[in-house]
Amino acid sequence: MPIPSQPEISEIARDLHFRSIVIDTHADTTQRLIYDGFDLGERHTDGSIDIPRMREGGVGAIFLAIWTLGTVTGPEAVRRALEQIAAVRRQVTLHSDDLVLATTADDIRRARAAGRIAILMGLEGGHMMNHDLAVLRQYASLGVSYVTLTHTRTTDWADASTDKPVHNGLSEFGKQVIVEMNRLGMIVDVSHVSDKAFQDVLEVSRAPVFASHSSCRALCNATRNLSDEMIKALAAKGGLVQINFHVGFISRQFREAEKGQLELATWIEDEAKRRCGENMACRLLESDRIVRTLVGEGKLPRVEWTEIVRHIDHAAKIAGADRVGLGSDFDGAEMPYGMEDASRLPRITDALLRLGYSESDVQKILGGNMLRLMQDVEAVAESMRGNTE
Ligand SMILES: [Zn+2]
Repeated sequence: MPIPSQPEISEIARDLHFRSIVIDTHADTTQRLIYDGFDLGERHTDGSIDIPRMREGGVGAIFLAIWTLGTVTGPEAVRRALEQIAAVRRQVTLHSDDLVLATTADDIRRARAAGRIAILMGLEGGHMMNHDLAVLRQYASLGVSYVTLTHTRTTDWADASTDKPVHNGLSEFGKQVIVEMNRLGMIVDVSHVSDKAFQDVLEVSRAPVFASHSSCRALCNATRNLSDEMIKALAAKGGLVQINFHVGFISRQFREAEKGQLELATWIEDEAKRRCGENMACRLLESDRIVRTLVGEGKLPRVEWTEIVRHIDHAAKIAGADRVGLGSDFDGAEMPYGMEDASRLPRITDALLRLGYSESDVQKILGGNMLRLMQDVEAVAESMRGNTE
């Protein structure tokens, strides 16, 4: 596979990047499969993810989100999740020369050895479980590797960071969900949950947990981001923070500008809705386009991709390079300039080397840490199943 030249990236960085297993733990491309009849095999000029651009960016594994709005609950939410899982699996079958479905760390390594990109799935929002552990088990058997406990809304068993708390963290059933996930070998994802739910998870989970797509609150004060204390607590339990690239989570300046113009924020949402109706894939991509137009008009600040590296560096400084990775939120959020799509990922490797990170630390951040986390979660599941059988 020829690697396109990116002149601003050093040869050493390019070489390191393309011999590393690069893992992105969160992308929303699944919405495009559902709403747009999107084909992962073709190179597109919009959005961020397809096979050609993942190849150019050296992606070794990507977790595609299975997501529906928190307002959709009950059997309809389950139906939508199953529809999305089927759509992801269909793309893997259609493009079996390039893609392979994976659920374990070894699956990802095997995919790499075979020259394929590993496709994994994460359920974004426990509301799609319909309050039923049997549904959770079904998702696991269909290949879902992690569950983000909530999306933006508090569910019937877990509080979200962007909604009113009603369970003081996790309900009793919520705690059962965590233990069942541990037993099944599914990774618990604390992105989106409230600070109290985060604490509850750390107390209850027998396996390390991660934030699949969250950034650092110390640099950008969004409740969706993790405070330094939270990152340290996650690290102490063997977990990871996977840095989200969304401009509203990485740039304080952007966040404040948006917050200072509430009318503008509402207008962006309404305008995306007006252009797209109920097509969620369109709405996600259109918001990105609208924000870029507003940046061009000087109404919102321009955010550069280097902000992502600032967050990686911050998390690594407070918790160690063993505790941080990449969770882009591609195709689901507004991307900074210079990180428009997966093909731009080698820039991160180059920037980390320039900051003085060792090759081995860079490889851990790119994906090695995630492989280790997966193995740790798999080992806990094995020991729990061993105890009950
Ligand atoms: Zn999310």
